[in-house]
Amino acid sequence: MADGAAGGAHVPAAGSNAAWFARARRAIPGGVDSPVRSFSAVGGTPFTVARGEGPWVTDVEGVRYLDLIQSYGAILLGHAHPVVVEAVRRAATLGSSFGMPTPGEVLLAEAICTRVPGCDQVRFVSSGTEAAMSAVRLARGVTGRTRVVKFAGCYHGHSDALLAGGGSGVATLGLPGSAGVPPGAVADTLVLPYNVVPELGDDVACVVVEPVAANMNLVPPVPGFLDGLRAACDAAGALLVFDEVISGFRAGPGSLSSSHGVVPDLWCFGKVIGGGLPIGAFGGRREIMAALSPSGPVYQAGTLSGNPLATAAGLAVLQHLTAADYAALAARVARFAADLVAAVSSSGLSAVAPVVGTLTGLYVAPPGVALGVPVDYDGASAVAATGVFPRFFHALLRRRVVIAPGAYEVLFCGFAHDEAVLSLAVEAAGEAALDVVDELARR
Ligand SMILES: *Cc1c(COP(=O)(O)O)cnc(C)c1O
Repeated sequence: MADGAAGGAHVPAAGSNAAWFARARRAIPGGVDSPVRSFSAVGGTPFTVARGEGPWVTDVEGVRYLDLIQSYGAILLGHAHPVVVEAVRRAATLGSSFGMPTPGEVLLAEAICTRVPGCDQVRFVSSGTEAAMSAVRLARGVTGRTRVVKFAGCYHGHSDALLAGGGSGVATLGLPGSAGVPPGAVADTLVLPYNVVPELGDDVACVVVEPVAANMNLVPPVPGFLDGLRAACDAAGALLVFDEVISGFRAGPGSLSSSHGVVPDLWCFGKVIGGGLPIGAFGGRREIMAALSPSGPVYQAGTLSGNPLATAAGLAVLQHLTAADYAALAARVARFAADLVAAVSSSGLSAVAPVVGTLTGLYVAPPGVALGVPVDYDGASAVAATGVFPRFFHALLRRRVVIAPGAYEVLFCGFAHDEAVLSLAVEAAGEAALDVVDELARR
Protein backbone atom coordinates (compact mmCIF):
# COMPACT_ATOMS: atom_id res chain seq x y z
CA MET A 1 0.00 0.00 0.00
CA ALA A 2 1.43 3.34 -1.07
CA ASP A 3 1.47 6.21 1.39
CA GLY A 4 -0.44 9.38 0.59
CA ALA A 5 1.62 11.99 -1.27
CA ALA A 6 2.69 14.41 1.45
CA GLY A 7 1.34 17.89 0.79
CA GLY A 8 0.85 17.16 -2.93
CA ALA A 9 -2.21 18.35 -4.83
CA HIS A 10 -2.85 14.83 -6.02
CA VAL A 11 -3.52 12.49 -3.15
CA PRO A 12 -3.97 8.84 -4.11
CA ALA A 13 -7.37 7.65 -2.92
CA ALA A 14 -5.83 4.69 -1.13
CA GLY A 15 -3.82 7.04 1.09
CA SER A 16 -6.47 9.64 1.82
CA ASN A 17 -8.19 10.16 5.13
CA ALA A 18 -11.53 9.60 3.43
CA ALA A 19 -10.42 6.28 1.96
CA TRP A 20 -8.94 5.04 5.20
CA PHE A 21 -12.03 5.96 7.16
CA ALA A 22 -14.29 4.33 4.59
CA ARG A 23 -12.27 1.13 5.01
CA ALA A 24 -12.34 1.57 8.79
CA ARG A 25 -16.14 1.80 8.69
CA ARG A 26 -16.34 -1.47 6.78
CA ALA A 27 -14.04 -3.40 9.09
CA ILE A 28 -14.66 -1.69 12.46
CA PRO A 29 -18.07 -0.57 13.83
CA GLY A 30 -18.41 3.16 13.23
CA GLY A 31 -14.82 3.13 12.01
CA VAL A 32 -13.43 3.61 15.53
CA ASP A 33 -12.33 1.46 18.44
CA SER A 34 -13.54 3.99 21.01
CA PRO A 35 -16.61 6.17 20.39
CA VAL A 36 -14.95 9.43 21.52
CA ARG A 37 -12.72 9.25 18.44
CA SER A 38 -15.63 9.53 16.06
CA PHE A 39 -16.78 12.96 14.99
CA SER A 40 -20.40 12.15 15.95
CA ALA A 41 -20.64 15.19 18.20
CA VAL A 42 -18.99 17.68 15.83
CA GLY A 43 -19.80 16.34 12.35
CA GLY A 44 -17.39 15.36 9.61
CA THR A 45 -14.87 12.57 9.22
CA PRO A 46 -11.88 12.03 11.50
CA PHE A 47 -8.43 12.10 9.93
CA THR A 48 -6.35 8.94 10.20
CA VAL A 49 -3.05 9.29 12.03
CA ALA A 50 0.11 7.98 10.43
CA ARG A 51 2.57 9.11 13.09
CA GLY A 52 3.24 11.45 15.98
CA GLU A 53 6.23 13.39 17.21
CA GLY A 54 6.27 15.50 20.39
CA PRO A 55 3.18 17.76 20.33
CA TRP A 56 2.40 16.95 16.68
CA VAL A 57 0.44 14.28 14.85
CA THR A 58 0.60 13.76 11.09
CA ASP A 59 -2.23 12.20 9.13
CA VAL A 60 -2.00 9.74 6.23
CA GLU A 61 -2.10 12.67 3.77
CA GLY A 62 0.98 14.22 5.37
CA VAL A 63 -0.89 17.05 7.11
CA ARG A 64 0.53 17.93 10.52
CA TYR A 65 -1.63 19.00 13.48
CA LEU A 66 -0.81 20.50 16.85
CA ASP A 67 -2.20 17.78 19.11
CA LEU A 68 -4.02 18.69 22.33
CA ILE A 69 -5.50 15.20 22.71
CA GLN A 70 -2.30 13.31 23.48
CA SER A 71 -4.16 9.99 23.55
CA TYR A 72 -6.73 11.39 26.01
CA GLY A 73 -4.02 11.89 28.57
CA ALA A 74 -1.95 8.74 28.15
CA ILE A 75 0.93 10.62 26.53
CA LEU A 76 2.78 13.01 28.82
CA LEU A 77 6.24 13.45 27.28
CA GLY A 78 4.93 13.90 23.75
CA HIS A 79 4.63 11.33 20.98
CA ALA A 80 7.52 8.97 20.31
CA HIS A 81 9.68 10.45 23.05
CA PRO A 82 13.18 8.91 22.78
CA VAL A 83 13.29 7.61 26.37
CA VAL A 84 9.96 5.82 25.91
CA VAL A 85 10.90 4.48 22.47
CA GLU A 86 14.16 3.12 23.85
CA ALA A 87 12.52 1.59 26.94
CA VAL A 88 9.91 -0.19 24.81
CA ARG A 89 12.48 -1.32 22.25
CA ARG A 90 14.71 -2.77 24.93
CA ALA A 91 11.78 -4.49 26.68
CA ALA A 92 10.52 -5.94 23.40
CA THR A 93 13.87 -7.52 22.63
CA LEU A 94 13.64 -9.38 25.96
CA GLY A 95 10.19 -10.79 25.27
CA SER A 96 6.82 -9.09 25.36
CA SER A 97 4.82 -11.21 27.81
CA PHE A 98 5.52 -14.22 30.00
CA GLY A 99 2.71 -14.92 32.44
CA MET A 100 5.43 -15.00 35.06
CA PRO A 101 6.74 -12.34 37.47
CA THR A 102 9.06 -9.75 35.91
CA PRO A 103 11.29 -7.00 37.36
CA GLY A 104 9.50 -4.30 35.35
CA GLU A 105 6.21 -4.62 37.22
CA VAL A 106 8.05 -4.46 40.55
CA LEU A 107 9.93 -1.33 39.54
CA LEU A 108 6.83 0.47 38.33
CA ALA A 109 4.81 -0.59 41.42
CA GLU A 110 7.60 0.78 43.63
CA ALA A 111 7.80 3.99 41.61
CA ILE A 112 4.05 4.55 42.00
CA CYS A 113 3.92 3.73 45.71
CA THR A 114 6.90 6.00 46.47
CA ARG A 115 5.17 8.89 44.75
CA VAL A 116 1.74 8.33 46.33
CA PRO A 117 1.87 8.53 50.14
CA GLY A 118 -0.61 6.10 51.68
CA CYS A 119 -0.58 3.76 48.70
CA ASP A 120 1.39 0.72 49.90
CA GLN A 121 0.69 -1.65 47.04
CA VAL A 122 -0.72 -1.60 43.54
CA ARG A 123 -1.92 -4.32 41.23
CA PHE A 124 -1.58 -3.80 37.50
CA VAL A 125 -4.31 -4.42 34.96
CA SER A 126 -4.53 -3.49 31.28
CA SER A 127 -6.91 -0.51 31.30
CA GLY A 128 -8.46 2.14 33.49
CA THR A 129 -11.78 0.38 33.09
CA GLU A 130 -10.38 -2.75 34.70
CA ALA A 131 -8.75 -0.71 37.46
CA ALA A 132 -12.03 0.96 38.48
CA MET A 133 -14.02 -2.25 38.10
CA SER A 134 -11.54 -4.17 40.25
CA ALA A 135 -11.34 -1.41 42.88
CA VAL A 136 -15.12 -1.57 43.29
CA ARG A 137 -15.06 -5.36 43.61
CA LEU A 138 -12.32 -5.06 46.22
CA ALA A 139 -14.27 -2.41 48.14
CA ARG A 140 -17.37 -4.61 48.10
CA GLY A 141 -15.37 -7.64 49.15
CA VAL A 142 -13.68 -5.82 52.00
CA THR A 143 -16.79 -4.11 53.36
CA GLY A 144 -19.27 -6.89 52.63
CA ARG A 145 -21.60 -4.21 51.23
CA THR A 146 -23.00 -3.74 47.75
CA ARG A 147 -23.90 -0.10 47.08
CA VAL A 148 -21.57 2.15 45.07
CA VAL A 149 -21.86 5.93 44.97
CA LYS A 150 -20.55 7.79 41.93
CA PHE A 151 -21.01 11.30 40.59
CA ALA A 152 -22.73 12.42 37.40
CA GLY A 153 -20.23 13.34 34.71
CA CYS A 154 -17.39 11.33 36.24
CA TYR A 155 -16.16 8.53 33.99
CA HIS A 156 -14.77 5.34 35.45
CA GLY A 157 -14.51 3.23 32.32
CA HIS A 158 -17.17 1.20 30.60
CA SER A 159 -17.92 -1.59 33.07
CA ASP A 160 -21.65 -2.24 33.59
CA ALA A 161 -21.96 -0.92 37.12
CA LEU A 162 -19.96 2.28 36.55
CA LEU A 163 -21.19 3.46 33.17
CA ALA A 164 -24.32 5.08 34.62
CA GLY A 165 -24.08 8.88 34.55
CA GLY A 166 -20.71 8.64 32.86
CA GLY A 167 -18.84 11.59 31.35
CA SER A 168 -16.59 11.65 28.28
CA GLY A 169 -18.05 9.65 25.35
CA VAL A 170 -21.22 8.74 27.24
CA ALA A 171 -21.90 12.44 27.78
CA THR A 172 -20.69 13.48 24.31
CA LEU A 173 -23.03 11.03 22.61
CA GLY A 174 -25.87 12.00 24.96
CA LEU A 175 -26.35 8.46 26.25
CA PRO A 176 -28.20 7.74 29.50
CA GLY A 177 -25.87 4.78 29.92
CA SER A 178 -25.78 1.90 27.51
CA ALA A 179 -28.01 -0.70 25.94
CA GLY A 180 -26.95 -4.13 27.10
CA VAL A 181 -26.56 -3.13 30.74
CA PRO A 182 -29.26 -5.00 32.68
CA PRO A 183 -31.09 -3.08 35.42
CA GLY A 184 -29.64 -5.46 37.97
CA ALA A 185 -26.09 -4.41 37.08
CA VAL A 186 -26.74 -0.78 38.00
CA ALA A 187 -29.31 -1.35 40.76
CA ASP A 188 -26.61 -0.80 43.37
CA THR A 189 -25.05 2.25 41.69
CA LEU A 190 -26.18 5.60 43.03
CA VAL A 191 -25.38 8.58 40.77
CA LEU A 192 -25.21 11.91 42.60
CA PRO A 193 -24.23 15.49 41.66
CA TYR A 194 -20.50 16.29 41.77
CA ASN A 195 -19.26 18.73 44.39
CA VAL A 196 -22.06 17.97 46.85
CA VAL A 197 -21.11 15.82 49.84
CA PRO A 198 -23.76 13.08 50.06
CA GLU A 199 -25.21 11.43 53.13
CA LEU A 200 -24.20 7.81 53.03
CA GLY A 201 -26.20 4.86 54.27
CA ASP A 202 -24.60 1.86 55.96
CA ASP A 203 -25.06 -0.16 52.78
CA VAL A 204 -22.45 1.86 50.86
CA ALA A 205 -19.31 -0.11 50.01
CA CYS A 206 -17.51 2.80 48.40
CA VAL A 207 -17.68 6.28 46.96
CA VAL A 208 -15.86 6.49 43.64
CA VAL A 209 -14.80 9.94 42.51
CA GLU A 210 -12.48 11.71 40.12
CA PRO A 211 -10.82 14.08 42.62
CA VAL A 212 -10.69 16.57 39.76
CA ALA A 213 -13.38 15.75 37.23
CA ALA A 214 -11.77 15.60 33.80
CA ASN A 215 -14.43 13.79 31.78
CA MET A 216 -17.07 16.54 31.78
CA ASN A 217 -14.55 19.05 30.52
CA LEU A 218 -12.64 20.19 33.64
CA VAL A 219 -14.61 20.58 36.87
CA PRO A 220 -12.37 21.20 39.87
CA PRO A 221 -13.46 20.04 43.33
CA VAL A 222 -14.90 22.91 45.37
CA PRO A 223 -13.24 23.53 48.75
CA GLY A 224 -14.58 21.02 51.26
CA PHE A 225 -15.84 18.47 48.73
CA LEU A 226 -13.01 15.94 48.99
CA ASP A 227 -12.60 16.44 52.75
CA GLY A 228 -16.34 16.06 53.09
CA LEU A 229 -16.27 12.79 51.16
CA ARG A 230 -13.50 11.50 53.40
CA ALA A 231 -15.48 12.36 56.54
CA ALA A 232 -18.73 10.94 55.14
CA CYS A 233 -17.01 7.67 54.18
CA ASP A 234 -15.38 7.39 57.60
CA ALA A 235 -18.71 8.00 59.35
CA ALA A 236 -20.48 5.39 57.21
CA GLY A 237 -17.69 2.81 57.17
CA ALA A 238 -17.42 3.10 53.38
CA LEU A 239 -14.22 3.19 51.37
CA LEU A 240 -13.21 6.28 49.40
CA VAL A 241 -11.86 5.52 45.91
CA PHE A 242 -10.01 8.19 43.94
CA ASP A 243 -10.15 7.46 40.24
CA GLU A 244 -6.99 9.18 39.09
CA VAL A 245 -6.72 7.47 35.73
CA ILE A 246 -6.43 10.94 34.17
CA SER A 247 -5.18 13.07 37.04
CA GLY A 248 -2.59 10.64 38.44
CA PHE A 249 0.98 11.54 37.44
CA ARG A 250 -0.46 14.09 34.99
CA ALA A 251 -2.00 16.89 37.04
CA GLY A 252 1.10 16.65 39.23
CA PRO A 253 3.91 14.26 40.18
CA GLY A 254 1.64 11.72 41.88
CA SER A 255 -1.85 11.79 43.30
CA LEU A 256 -4.23 14.72 43.78
CA SER A 257 -4.40 13.50 47.38
CA SER A 258 -0.95 15.03 47.95
CA SER A 259 -2.01 18.52 46.83
CA HIS A 260 -5.50 18.37 48.37
CA GLY A 261 -4.54 16.68 51.66
CA VAL A 262 -7.24 14.01 51.43
CA VAL A 263 -6.07 10.40 51.42
CA PRO A 264 -8.48 7.87 49.90
CA ASP A 265 -8.58 4.16 50.72
CA LEU A 266 -8.04 3.12 47.13
CA TRP A 267 -6.61 4.75 44.01
CA CYS A 268 -7.12 3.93 40.36
CA PHE A 269 -4.42 4.81 37.86
CA GLY A 270 -3.94 4.33 34.13
CA LYS A 271 -3.06 6.41 31.07
CA VAL A 272 0.26 8.15 31.98
CA ILE A 273 1.61 5.17 33.98
CA GLY A 274 1.76 3.12 30.77
CA GLY A 275 3.60 5.74 28.72
CA GLY A 276 1.11 5.23 25.87
CA LEU A 277 0.85 1.46 26.15
CA PRO A 278 -2.22 -0.33 27.58
CA ILE A 279 -2.21 -0.28 31.38
CA GLY A 280 -4.21 0.37 34.52
CA ALA A 281 -3.52 -0.08 38.22
CA PHE A 282 -5.40 0.03 41.48
CA GLY A 283 -3.81 0.31 44.86
CA GLY A 284 -4.14 1.26 48.49
CA ARG A 285 -3.25 0.31 52.02
CA ARG A 286 -1.63 -3.06 52.57
CA GLU A 287 -4.52 -4.39 54.74
CA ILE A 288 -7.06 -3.64 52.03
CA MET A 289 -4.95 -4.96 49.16
CA ALA A 290 -4.38 -8.18 51.15
CA ALA A 291 -8.00 -9.08 50.43
CA LEU A 292 -7.08 -9.67 46.79
CA SER A 293 -6.53 -13.14 45.41
CA PRO A 294 -4.24 -15.09 45.96
CA SER A 295 -3.78 -13.80 49.54
CA GLY A 296 -7.46 -12.99 50.04
CA PRO A 297 -10.95 -13.87 48.82
CA VAL A 298 -11.46 -11.16 46.15
CA TYR A 299 -10.67 -12.64 42.75
CA GLN A 300 -8.99 -10.53 40.09
CA ALA A 301 -6.67 -11.56 37.24
CA GLY A 302 -5.22 -10.76 33.81
CA THR A 303 -3.10 -12.56 31.19
CA LEU A 304 -1.31 -9.36 30.12
CA SER A 305 -1.42 -7.61 33.52
CA GLY A 306 1.92 -6.00 34.42
CA ASN A 307 2.98 -6.32 30.80
CA PRO A 308 6.76 -5.81 30.40
CA LEU A 309 6.42 -3.30 27.53
CA ALA A 310 3.77 -1.21 29.28
CA THR A 311 5.56 -1.19 32.62
CA ALA A 312 8.87 -0.28 30.95
CA ALA A 313 7.25 2.62 29.09
CA GLY A 314 5.48 3.87 32.21
CA LEU A 315 8.60 3.64 34.34
CA ALA A 316 10.59 5.56 31.74
CA VAL A 317 8.06 8.40 31.92
CA LEU A 318 7.93 8.52 35.72
CA GLN A 319 11.72 8.38 36.04
CA HIS A 320 12.19 11.10 33.45
CA LEU A 321 10.26 13.70 35.47
CA THR A 322 10.87 15.58 38.70
CA ALA A 323 8.41 17.52 40.85
CA ALA A 324 10.06 20.69 39.53
CA ASP A 325 9.30 19.63 35.97
CA TYR A 326 5.63 19.26 36.82
CA ALA A 327 5.62 22.65 38.56
CA ALA A 328 7.14 24.27 35.49
CA LEU A 329 4.54 22.66 33.21
CA ALA A 330 1.73 23.69 35.57
CA ALA A 331 2.94 27.30 35.37
CA ARG A 332 3.10 27.10 31.57
CA VAL A 333 -0.40 25.64 31.42
CA ALA A 334 -1.77 28.35 33.73
CA ARG A 335 -0.42 31.04 31.38
CA PHE A 336 -1.75 29.10 28.39
CA ALA A 337 -5.24 28.95 29.92
CA ALA A 338 -5.22 32.69 30.64
CA ASP A 339 -3.94 33.48 27.12
CA LEU A 340 -6.56 31.19 25.58
CA VAL A 341 -9.38 32.89 27.43
CA ALA A 342 -8.03 36.31 26.42
CA ALA A 343 -7.68 35.29 22.75
CA VAL A 344 -11.10 33.65 22.53
CA SER A 345 -12.88 36.42 24.46
CA SER A 346 -11.38 39.14 22.27
CA SER A 347 -13.52 37.75 19.43
CA GLY A 348 -16.62 38.34 21.51
CA LEU A 349 -17.21 34.70 22.43
CA SER A 350 -17.54 33.86 26.10
CA ALA A 351 -14.79 31.67 27.49
CA VAL A 352 -13.51 30.31 30.77
CA ALA A 353 -10.63 27.91 31.40
CA PRO A 354 -10.20 26.33 34.84
CA VAL A 355 -6.77 24.92 35.69
CA VAL A 356 -5.77 22.15 38.11
CA GLY A 357 -2.05 21.46 38.08
CA THR A 358 -1.15 20.76 34.47
CA LEU A 359 -4.79 20.10 33.47
CA THR A 360 -6.92 22.72 31.83
CA GLY A 361 -10.28 22.78 30.11
CA LEU A 362 -11.83 25.39 27.85
CA TYR A 363 -15.54 26.22 27.93
CA VAL A 364 -16.84 28.32 25.04
CA ALA A 365 -20.28 29.91 24.68
CA PRO A 366 -21.89 32.55 22.46
CA PRO A 367 -21.19 36.27 22.97
CA GLY A 368 -22.96 37.73 25.97
CA VAL A 369 -23.36 34.47 27.90
CA ALA A 370 -22.08 34.93 31.45
CA LEU A 371 -19.77 31.98 32.06
CA GLY A 372 -18.50 30.77 35.41
CA VAL A 373 -16.51 27.59 35.96
CA PRO A 374 -19.11 24.78 36.12
CA VAL A 375 -19.26 22.87 39.40
CA ASP A 376 -21.13 19.82 38.13
CA TYR A 377 -22.38 17.95 35.09
CA ASP A 378 -25.49 20.13 34.72
CA GLY A 379 -23.27 23.21 34.57
CA ALA A 380 -20.88 21.64 32.06
CA SER A 381 -23.71 20.37 29.87
CA ALA A 382 -25.44 23.78 29.91
CA VAL A 383 -22.31 25.24 28.30
CA ALA A 384 -22.11 22.35 25.81
CA ALA A 385 -25.78 22.89 24.94
CA THR A 386 -25.02 26.40 23.62
CA GLY A 387 -23.70 24.54 20.58
CA VAL A 388 -20.59 26.67 20.05
CA PHE A 389 -18.19 23.79 20.57
CA PRO A 390 -18.57 21.95 17.21
CA ARG A 391 -17.99 25.20 15.30
CA PHE A 392 -14.99 26.06 17.43
CA PHE A 393 -13.61 22.55 17.03
CA HIS A 394 -13.76 22.71 13.24
CA ALA A 395 -12.41 26.26 13.07
CA LEU A 396 -9.42 25.08 15.10
CA LEU A 397 -9.02 21.97 12.97
CA ARG A 398 -8.89 24.13 9.81
CA ARG A 399 -5.90 25.82 11.49
CA ARG A 400 -4.31 22.44 12.12
CA VAL A 401 -4.93 22.35 15.85
CA VAL A 402 -6.77 19.28 17.09
CA ILE A 403 -8.65 19.04 20.36
CA ALA A 404 -10.88 16.13 21.40
CA PRO A 405 -14.05 16.09 19.26
CA GLY A 406 -16.41 16.56 22.19
CA ALA A 407 -17.29 19.37 24.59
CA TYR A 408 -16.73 17.16 27.64
CA GLU A 409 -13.00 16.60 27.27
CA VAL A 410 -10.07 18.57 28.66
CA LEU A 411 -7.08 20.01 26.80
CA PHE A 412 -4.09 17.76 27.25
CA CYS A 413 -0.82 19.66 27.34
CA GLY A 414 2.35 17.73 28.03
CA PHE A 415 6.07 18.28 28.32
CA ALA A 416 6.41 18.59 24.55
CA HIS A 417 4.09 21.62 24.56
CA ASP A 418 6.62 24.40 25.04
CA GLU A 419 5.88 28.13 25.01
CA ALA A 420 6.23 28.36 21.25
CA VAL A 421 3.82 25.49 20.61
CA LEU A 422 1.28 26.84 23.08
CA SER A 423 1.49 30.31 21.46
CA LEU A 424 0.57 28.73 18.13
CA ALA A 425 -2.46 27.15 19.79
CA VAL A 426 -3.49 30.47 21.35
CA GLU A 427 -3.15 32.27 18.04
CA ALA A 428 -5.21 29.60 16.26
CA ALA A 429 -7.86 29.73 19.00
CA GLY A 430 -8.21 33.49 18.63
CA GLU A 431 -8.68 33.19 14.86
CA ALA A 432 -11.00 30.22 15.24
CA ALA A 433 -13.16 32.19 17.68
CA LEU A 434 -13.47 35.01 15.12
CA ASP A 435 -14.67 32.45 12.55
CA VAL A 436 -17.28 31.21 15.01
CA VAL A 437 -18.53 34.72 15.74
CA ASP A 438 -18.85 35.32 11.98
CA GLU A 439 -20.74 32.07 11.51
CA LEU A 440 -23.10 32.85 14.38
CA ALA A 441 -23.75 36.34 12.96
CA ARG A 442 -24.56 34.95 9.50
CA ARG A 443 -27.07 32.42 10.84
C1 LIG B 1 -9.91 7.04 30.76
C2 LIG B 1 -10.52 6.85 32.12
C3 LIG B 1 -10.91 5.59 32.58
C4 LIG B 1 -10.92 4.38 31.69
O1 LIG B 1 -9.66 4.02 31.28
P1 LIG B 1 -9.51 3.08 29.96
O2 LIG B 1 -8.05 2.78 29.91
O3 LIG B 1 -10.03 3.90 28.83
O4 LIG B 1 -10.34 1.88 30.20
C5 LIG B 1 -11.35 5.47 33.89
N1 LIG B 1 -11.41 6.54 34.70
C6 LIG B 1 -11.05 7.77 34.29
C7 LIG B 1 -11.10 8.91 35.24
C8 LIG B 1 -10.62 7.97 32.98
O5 LIG B 1 -10.31 9.20 32.55
